[in-house]
Amino acid sequence: MEELWKISENSFNPKQINHYETVFSQGNGYLGTRGSFEEYFPNQQRATFVHGVYDDIPVVFTQLVNFPDWTDLEIILDGETFDLNTGEILGFHRELDLRNGLLTRSLRWCSPKGKISRLDFKRFTSMADVHIACLLVRVTPENYSGELICRSSLDGAVDSLHFKQWDWVDQGVEEDACWLKLRTHATNIEIGMAQKVSLPDNPNHKQEAWNIREKPSLSLTAALQAQESVQLEKYVTLYTSRDGEDPLNAAREGLSQISTRPWADLWRDHQSVWETLWERNDVIIEGDDKAQLSVRFNIYHLLIAAPRHDDQVNIGAKTLSGYGYHGHIFWDTEIFMLPFFTFTQPEIAKKLLSYRYYNLPGAREKSAKNGYLGAQFPWESAGDGREVTPTWVTNQHDRTSLTRIWTGDIEIHISSDIAYAIWLYWQATGDDAFMYDEGAEIILDTALFWSSRLVWHPKSSRYQISDVIGPDEYHEHVDNNAFTNYFVRWHLRKAAAVAQWLTQEHPQKANQLFKQLNLTQQTVTNWTSQANQIYCPIDLSTGLIEQFDGYFDKNDILASEFDPRTESIQSLLGNEGVNATQILKQPDIVMLMYLLPEEFNQEVKRANYDYYTPRTDLTYGSSLGHSIQTVMDTRFGNESQAYKNFMRTALMDIEDLRGNTRDGIHGASAGGLWQAVVFGFGGLHFNQDTWWIEPKLPSHWKRLSFKFVWHGELIEIDINPEEHPQ
Ligand code: BGC
Repeated sequence: MEELWKISENSFNPKQINHYETVFSQGNGYLGTRGSFEEYFPNQQRATFVHGVYDDIPVVFTQLVNFPDWTDLEIILDGETFDLNTGEILGFHRELDLRNGLLTRSLRWCSPKGKISRLDFKRFTSMADVHIACLLVRVTPENYSGELICRSSLDGAVDSLHFKQWDWVDQGVEEDACWLKLRTHATNIEIGMAQKVSLPDNPNHKQEAWNIREKPSLSLTAALQAQESVQLEKYVTLYTSRDGEDPLNAAREGLSQISTRPWADLWRDHQSVWETLWERNDVIIEGDDKAQLSVRFNIYHLLIAAPRHDDQVNIGAKTLSGYGYHGHIFWDTEIFMLPFFTFTQPEIAKKLLSYRYYNLPGAREKSAKNGYLGAQFPWESAGDGREVTPTWVTNQHDRTSLTRIWTGDIEIHISSDIAYAIWLYWQATGDDAFMYDEGAEIILDTALFWSSRLVWHPKSSRYQISDVIGPDEYHEHVDNNAFTNYFVRWHLRKAAAVAQWLTQEHPQKANQLFKQLNLTQQTVTNWTSQANQIYCPIDLSTGLIEQFDGYFDKNDILASEFDPRTESIQSLLGNEGVNATQILKQPDIVMLMYLLPEEFNQEVKRANYDYYTPRTDLTYGSSLGHSIQTVMDTRFGNESQAYKNFMRTALMDIEDLRGNTRDGIHGASAGGLWQAVVFGFGGLHFNQDTWWIEPKLPSHWKRLSFKFVWHGELIEIDINPEEHPQ
């Protein structure tokens, strides 16, 4: 059904403009463009970002660069500028077709002088050639004839949240094309863009090029006849020096290769890539249209964010769809988004993991700076793998005082999250070559970090890890966060296994790597014995795992005691207030049991799930929590709660459940949603050797079908409870 592929906005509400800019974002794994209007409208946050193109800014170190606006188009209808802020909107419909990323907007507008026009916009960013973006507008005057002027520019008069991150270098205009060259301030990345515009059906139109500094423009003038349409087509090419030496030349060359009437050709190539993508990635849900549409919506956003052409970039927490977290990369990739890629398009997962490999120097620098060995990955990472977590941010409540952010200093589980994602990738793909080339080096060097980070406590004869933050960021500076400690134990053991595999299978490589990392077989033996002595808390009588030392002594309140509410428990109680309670920002122990199921027996899982779930601020804590909670809810037979958590994940951005979708798509939530469907309701399980399914569909679902790849083989799962009752 068509409508299960389309996200629509049926009337225009200026208050929701920033929300829809994010929802309607387009992209192709190279660039991302927010769904702003082509023409000016107040308070829009127009932005185009390109993976890997960051530049320095104060306080938060670095931020994705906002590129010149390729969508910019001013339309003058017989002397009046088309502007939804004036005149009257007589009809408005916008929709994003998830099948192919086409964004359309159709509207009727009555100008202040009473001239009625119909305008139909379409645009896409090519999946087939990621350097090309295309825009089309058809103008139909209904009750007048006159003159149409379209001014189309590469609009460099944009900033990145009030910062200008590049310098103008050069620009030029020709009869039917213009171009712009810039260079980022600190990172010295060159940007080359070129555009051409045409009115293919109006050969007699007048065309002028305006060489406005930072905004080279083409102006086209044509006659408008009542009831007759005029169509304008705009093509833009965009390259950076990350793609090759001379991005401007590449952009101009690319533009010149676009034929004179190219829409149909470019569209055909673009669409055929999308067809292939959906062939592999679609998840079919029957019996629940809302779930169907929103699952596709979230997969769409993962697909447009996924870098296919570059293994030195990664997906930021808010994808390429907004300024949230400045484009920084978190564990959101490895734990929430990567499983989707690992199980559907392992070649993309591999690229995302390679990003960490290329950024090992930054991780080594961080570890050394902190006085440790090996590699310690940054909590927030961007262009070059240095730690870029801001140290201070403005307090969200009073907007004047500053809050110290500790995650960059002490949220250290990220190094194991990365090792985990590599291990999962290896399990699911059997890609020994990746482990040989890159994976082993990451796992071993991060193990080296842990071995030096552990502290021996003679009194209790065990290794401990003090002063950390676990996934539950409501509690900072805690000792022995169970998530971290259990993960480090797992990590050191897996590192020993990888070292053994390498030594046996590829002794020469093992030798070379050991030498390079300054490792000996004795170091590896020590890892195993350190792992065996790490303090991994558990109460053997109840099975309960204390989230960190002293957690059970905190004030025991349940999250439900704060309901009804519209904000997080942290905003209600303040940082210190929430820290004094047992309330969690997101699942911590429950997450641990989800990720490392073989480390815990069923009774322990049950006891901790029962204890921690009601103490988790699921509704307004972290957006990352619901998806994993959904999986665990299904595993513990909690159907209604599973469905509720699933829908909160599914609708997070479409319905703006957190009120912050304007800042960008919640990438972890989108990735987590796929896990909730496939690992939760679909019940896909796996271990080192094999996979199996134990479906647990919501009772009203009539069918769930998805595909995944296991060791190179594409497997199709089709669950139909009526044919095979659960
Ligand atoms: C969450 C982190 C997450 C980050 C970026 C924070 O609010 O607590 O777990 O990595 O947002 O999404």
